[in-house]
Amino acid sequence: MAAPANPPTFAPETPSAPASGRRCSSCTNPLVPLGPRPFRTAAVGELPEAVVTLELFFCSQCGKVEFYSTR
Ligand SMILES: [Zn+2]
Repeated sequence: MAAPANPPTFAPETPSAPASGRRCSSCTNPLVPLGPRPFRTAAVGELPEAVVTLELFFCSQCGKVEFYSTR
């Protein structure tokens, strides 16, 4: 009597998380990376005008947009 063969079980494919791995701070939904965007800051007081590059992330669940420094 042959032992019943156990068919290999495959775990269901988990939806690929964004490469960023960042999650919304409001609803913990994975954030959609929108890429680095340059932002120009106006001169304020003694601070000169400058261009900073920020990573932009969007939450498709609640619509929250978050910015992160690229460094
Ligand atoms: Zn959210």
